[in-house]
Amino acid sequence: MPWHLDCHRKLHRPLCSVCRKPLTRKYLVDFWGNAFCNTHTNYSNCSSCGRIVCKHLTDGGMLHPDGLLVCNLCTLRAVDTQERAKSLLNEMRLALASVGLKLNQTQTPVILCDRDELRTASRHNFHNERPILGLAQWTTTFSGGRIIGRQFDRILIQNKLPEEHFRTIAIHELTHAWFFYNHYHDLPLQVEEGMCVLMEYIWLKNQASKDAEYRRTLIEQSQDPIYGEGFQKARSALKLMPLQILLKYLKEKNGFPSRLSAFFYH
Ligand SMILES: [Zn+2]
Ligand SMILES: [Zn+2]
Ligand SMILES: [Zn+2]
Repeated sequence: MPWHLDCHRKLHRPLCSVCRKPLTRKYLVDFWGNAFCNTHTNYSNCSSCGRIVCKHLTDGGMLHPDGLLVCNLCTLRAVDTQERAKSLLNEMRLALASVGLKLNQTQTPVILCDRDELRTASRHNFHNERPILGLAQWTTTFSGGRIIGRQFDRILIQNKLPEEHFRTIAIHELTHAWFFYNHYHDLPLQVEEGMCVLMEYIWLKNQASKDAEYRRTLIEQSQDPIYGEGFQKARSALKLMPLQILLKYLKEKNGFPSRLSAFFYH
């Protein structure tokens, strides 16, 4: 029989999710509804789900030398084989195509990587807020100072991330691939990253899970000058024109439209 929440609370003082002692008046509640004493400031949070990583709540976790911390709840649902990565990436290619960013016959191989491989491969340094978890790699060939060839190489994604997190990284990196294959070669970083985060966000909006809600909240609240601000600007731009028109605008103008420029744009 379902219990009435208030009566239940009176009968049983809830226990702290971290230390398992009855909660005092001073406690905090995380996104997932776990209450914990406000004194547990010495713990770190999972880089994927944000939960406090500890014995009782997450059964511990894996701390990487660069600070990436993934709890064991997340690891339970981890993507850790190449085959799984490949099939999820294909699903996300379809998801991206369904909102209009078609990759058609292009190649986007995916490789699961460890920390060192990803960090070594990182091509820019704007990762203040979150550790780097995914990357799209391509090669530009020069001759006499001129570009003579471009080739998309592969998508790298951190090994052993939970599936939903993997999917958002996949759609983000696939958006970079889409920009690559459609010859958007000079987009400002904030514009390109903002659009990639926007595509994550659009996909997450169609998912009913609590995980998806968590990831949307992270995106909405991000203060990062590239990813956070870029997303806010991309979302505002999408209110001014449909996605296909916005993509055309970005190609021509290399920047987001203002209200006025959107009004005069056909
Ligand atoms: Zn406690
Ligand atoms: Zn976690
Ligand atoms: Zn990116």
